[in-house]
Amino acid sequence: MLKIGLTGGIGSGKTTVAKVLEVLGIPVYYADDAAKQLMNTNEALKQQLIAEFGKDTYFENGELNRKHLAAIVFNNKEKLAVLNSLVHPATIADAKAWFTKQTAPYVIKEAALLFESGTAEGLDYVIGVTAPLTVRLKRVMDRDHVTAEEVKRRMANQIDEQLKMKLCDFVLHNNDQQLLLPQITALHEQLLQKAKEATL
Ligand code: ATP
Repeated sequence: MLKIGLTGGIGSGKTTVAKVLEVLGIPVYYADDAAKQLMNTNEALKQQLIAEFGKDTYFENGELNRKHLAAIVFNNKEKLAVLNSLVHPATIADAKAWFTKQTAPYVIKEAALLFESGTAEGLDYVIGVTAPLTVRLKRVMDRDHVTAEEVKRRMANQIDEQLKMKLCDFVLHNNDQQLLLPQITALHEQLLQKAKEATL
């Protein structure tokens, strides 16, 4: 079974691509969602977060106090790096356990910060999804009902999109000129073939 990463900048269309692949029968691990969930459920991680960011990191009912954590890491790169250094290893371990349960020819791990977090390690290939900055801005503003400034602020934590695409083995172009669906189905066929070759 091939393990394939799926990444791209904010609003590039990663989730859109992942949903199509799911329809084609490919299991997808959504790393960002999993990380959020692990912060609420993984006891060892919770204790590490409390030790680092204080007991106010969790409400009395044990649920993560996102506002508290966000206030600490907002505009503080060092604190954000510490947070990531705790959450990413937990997510990597969780994804590994998830991989072992899958039986499809290939599986996808979708993550916005695949390269930034070091979670691309151990993957056979990485798919990048790219779209022009103006298109990404507009799509995220429409999707999340936020300002361009807010989207740009989120983008500032990610490595440059062009650099990111250079690190990918396959690139899907999700702009307003090229149709996305045929690119996904062609890549799916290619990956099925690679998965078959890998078992020979
Ligand atoms: P994020 O990193 O913020 O989670 P993402 O890379 O997962 O973003 P999506 O959520 O898949 O991006 O796409 C961003 C928005 O753009 C969504 O509302 C999606 O429906 C829309 N979108 C994606 N691709 C297209 C397209 N080809 N045409 C029109 N809208 C699109």
